[in-house]
Amino acid sequence: MTNDFSSQRPPLTTLTDDELAFREAVADFTNGEVRPRVQEMERAAKLDPTLIPKYFELGLMGIQVPEQYGGAGGNLMMVTIAVEEISKADAAAAIMVDVQNTLVLYPMLTYASDDQKARYLPRLCTDMVGAYALSEAVSGSDAFALQTRATAQGDGSWVLNGRKLWITNGAEAEFFIVFANAAPEKGYKGITAFIVERGFTGFSVGKKEDKLGIRASSTCELILDNVPVPAANVLGPVGQGYKIAIETLNEGRIGIGAQMIGNAQGALDAAVAYLKERKQFGKALAEFQGIQFQVAQAATELEAARLMVYNATRQKETGMDIAVTGAMAKLYASQVCQQVTSLAVELLGGAGYTKDYPVEKFYRDAKIGAIYEGTSNMQLQTIAKAVLK
Ligand SMILES: Cc1cc2nc3c(=O)[nH]c(=O)nc-3n(C[C@H](O)[C@H](O)[C@H](O)COP(=O)(O)OP(=O)(O)OC[C@H]3O[C@@H](n4cnc5c(N)ncnc54)[C@H](O)[C@@H]3O)c2cc1C
Repeated sequence: MTNDFSSQRPPLTTLTDDELAFREAVADFTNGEVRPRVQEMERAAKLDPTLIPKYFELGLMGIQVPEQYGGAGGNLMMVTIAVEEISKADAAAAIMVDVQNTLVLYPMLTYASDDQKARYLPRLCTDMVGAYALSEAVSGSDAFALQTRATAQGDGSWVLNGRKLWITNGAEAEFFIVFANAAPEKGYKGITAFIVERGFTGFSVGKKEDKLGIRASSTCELILDNVPVPAANVLGPVGQGYKIAIETLNEGRIGIGAQMIGNAQGALDAAVAYLKERKQFGKALAEFQGIQFQVAQAATELEAARLMVYNATRQKETGMDIAVTGAMAKLYASQVCQQVTSLAVELLGGAGYTKDYPVEKFYRDAKIGAIYEGTSNMQLQTIAKAVLK
């Protein structure tokens, strides 16, 4: 027995020429279209709606979807790269792309029927933002204690009732994967995934949260009040929703890892630029060895986190189980992100504590990595179970 979770295959973190070209294209897009909007989106706590059609035009909202459905026909590494690059400017702008690709399109590509793929994938790649609705007020870490209920109607259709909380993209989404329990007597084995459109009767979006970080990303309550859902909109087998939820979050965690390394890199880049300009004691701050070593340590830890995220990405692409390595990548990337962004604020001194510089935003945006798609404790639980088995 071994606790070496990479031993099955060597890490394959090198990027191909196609992936490098893609990274350059997303970096150009980020610098040209996202970065100039960040301050205003942060102030307004709202994603600039003109940005969303640009995501679709560039193919960022359907990266892994085959071209026959209007997608970009890319791979998971391209999702990682896109989320990382956009997060270098704004983790809030990146999370829409992340949720669409990992939490919405992954389960659609894996579990949707041919009819569901034909009806929804072309729209999800061109103009339809999606969301993933698992969490509720009473069920966060204990996600499968969810209280939303699905009642069979006899003709194969269902009626959904309940409330979802904390749903990313809630304000913009037209398409929701909603998890509800269709047979509570069976416990988590009653959980089923449903495709719900914003326009369905009885469905509405409630309160939008006022958050510490990723403020331009919408986080909303969803209200399901006797929502009729046709039989054709059950996603995957009835009673298999827990499996779909878990597998989807396994891929999703890679995206959060990517968001965290991008956010940390953005903060480090901003700090380095400042250190080269700012003079104290007659020389640039970057010339003091005490500061150089802090920056070197941060860059090293960031590189380690990046390699873990890329490695889990490649493992997923090759069909390996990433429950543990994905949890490790998310856990470590979010820890490194908190350390690096905190250091960046310190390295800018008083300026770092103001909104005149981007590092305070990177610092606030870092915290979410330890909370969503499973808190850090939940990642540790997954890892501990595997190591100690
Ligand atoms: C900005 C934002 C966006 C989100 N987006 C989505 C989304 O799109 N879709 C969605 O479904 N959900 C979403 N969530 C919900 C998110 O996944 C949950 O907040 C998260 O899973 C934690 O659940 P909770 O908030 O109920 O915390 P709790 O589960 O109440 O946890 C509170 C604390 O207790 C700890 N804890 C709990 N149980 C244990 C245990 N057994 N052992 C040790 N420690 C434990 C946790 O680690 C945490 O520190 C989002 C949340 C936020 C804040």
